[in-house]
Formats: sequence, structure tokens, C-alpha cells
Amino acid sequence: MSDLIKDKVAIVTGGSRGIGRAIVLKLAGLGCHVAFNYHEQKQAADALVQEVTKNNVRCKASKVDVRDLSQVKAWTEDVKSDFGGIDILINNAGIVNDKALMMMTSDDWQKVIDTNLGGTFNVTKACIVTFMKQKKGDIINISSVSGIMGLPGQTNYSAAKGGINAFTKSLAKEVASYGIRVNAIAPGFIETEMLAKFSDEQKEQMKQNIPLQRLGTPDDVANTVAFLLSRDATYMTGQVINVDGGLVMR
Ligand code: NDP
Repeated sequence: MSDLIKDKVAIVTGGSRGIGRAIVLKLAGLGCHVAFNYHEQKQAADALVQEVTKNNVRCKASKVDVRDLSQVKAWTEDVKSDFGGIDILINNAGIVNDKALMMMTSDDWQKVIDTNLGGTFNVTKACIVTFMKQKKGDIINISSVSGIMGLPGQTNYSAAKGGINAFTKSLAKEVASYGIRVNAIAPGFIETEMLAKFSDEQKEQMKQNIPLQRLGTPDDVANTVAFLLSRDATYMTGQVINVDGGLVMR
């Protein structure tokens, strides 16, 4: 499975924690060099770099706000010159700010749209010409089931993630002839700090609605990333893959 990833260079956004961290560890374990960004949690990012470099691969963490295109461009240029290129982009950074629409301010709306959807646009925009020139590249966007089924209190987040799903399909059609594949993963409920606000009782309730009757782990998502980057998935593009224990069935 690892043969296509070994010695490649991947950029992972929001790699310091949760799902992004699991993706960084998975890719590095398969012999891929990884540059990831964090937003605020430098300590967690530095600890991850230490852990990853034990695998004899290169790893670098940078403080980058994915909402800011100029910061993103500077980062991707730095990765290209430092690592010698970029082969893989994982757009994972994301936030929630759940509120009923009647209570949601323009700022609550905009921050979620700008981080999830705007961040995906910014980092992809910064990498796409490199991928087109080299006539290869893999892009995986971390979306959410919320962008497919909708969830109350998440109009901002559902709109952003639904936008990512549509962005994935449009871009996949646009760049397929350049040898670039673009896919998305839509996780269900995954145990990370994003779910920290929910009580154990609420989590038990979530499990009742999941056919496989458990919450997902960051590794469940990272394993699907590895599959999409493997030789076994080279005919897949423009897909939104649910990793959700069966929560959404289409
Ligand atoms: P976490 O809250 O655990 O981690 C979020 C990551 O994004 C952190 O690395 C954080 O950096 C980074 N980040 C946040 N804002 C910015 C920003 N403005 N610029 C750059 N980086 C930023 O989230 P998860 O691991 O749970 O989620 C990862 C992805 O998976 C998100 O896109 C999320 O929407 C999606 N997802 C998660 C689900 C879940 O149940 N957990 C379900 C479905 C989808 P820092 O550590 O520095 O703050």
C-alpha cells in the first residue's frame, strides 16, 4: 500500500491535533516526508515533529493561519524550497462554532466559512500550479457528514463542508487531465477535541444513531487517507467518501 507514498512530500493543514495529527503520523509511518501547519498550539506541533522524525523522514511544523492567503503562499513556497517539492495536499484544518441560526452572528458565520472553505481554497490555490506543472498531485479534503446530511446548529459548518464537497468535484473535473486526483473524506463523529463539548451522555446518544455503534477514531480517517493515496485507489477522483460507521447511507 505504501509504495506510492514513500519519499513523497505531503502538506497537511491542522496537523497539530486530532485527525490531522493521525494523518501526519500515518503518512510518516509510510515513509512520506510531511510539512504541517498549526494555528496556536506550538507545543503540540513541536512534540509531533519530534515523534515523526523517529521514522527517518523529514517533518516540519509552521505556524500558518489558513484563512490568510499570503501566509499560506509563503508557507508552500518555503516547503517547496526546503523539501524539494510538494506531491500531496491534505486540507484538514477546520473549526466548528455551533449555534442556532437565530443566535448566529455574521462573525460566527464568517470564521467557520473562512477557516474550513476559505482555507481549503487558499492552500489548494497555493499548490495547484505546482501540481499542474509537474502533471501529478493528490489532494484530499477533509469534509464532514454535516455537509451531506445537515445538522442543527451547524448552518455555518454544513455550508462550509457542503461547499468543500462541491469544490472537490469541480476541481477533480478541472485538473484530471493533468494527472491530479481530488477526493474528499466526510467523517462522522470522531473522538477529538472537536467533540469535547459533548457530555458522555450525549456521546452515548450519538452512538445510538451510528449503525456500527461506536464513535470513530482519528486513525479511521487517517487509514482512509492512506488508502486514497495508495496504488489501490489510482482510479478514484471526485469522490466524497464517508467514514462514519454507517451514519449516512446514500
Ligand atoms: P481539532 O479541533 O482537534 O483540530 C483542528 C486543527 O485545525 C488543529 O490542528 C488546529 O491548529 C487547526 N486549525 C484551526 N484553525 C486554524 C486556522 N485558522 N489555520 C490553521 N490551522 C487551524 O479538529 P479535528 O481533528 O476533530 O478535525 C479535523 C478536520 O476534520 C476538520 O476539518 C473537521 O471539520 C473535520 N471533521 C471532524 C469531525 C470530528 O468529529 N472530530 C467530524 C467530521 C469532520 P491548533 O492546534 O494550532 O489550534
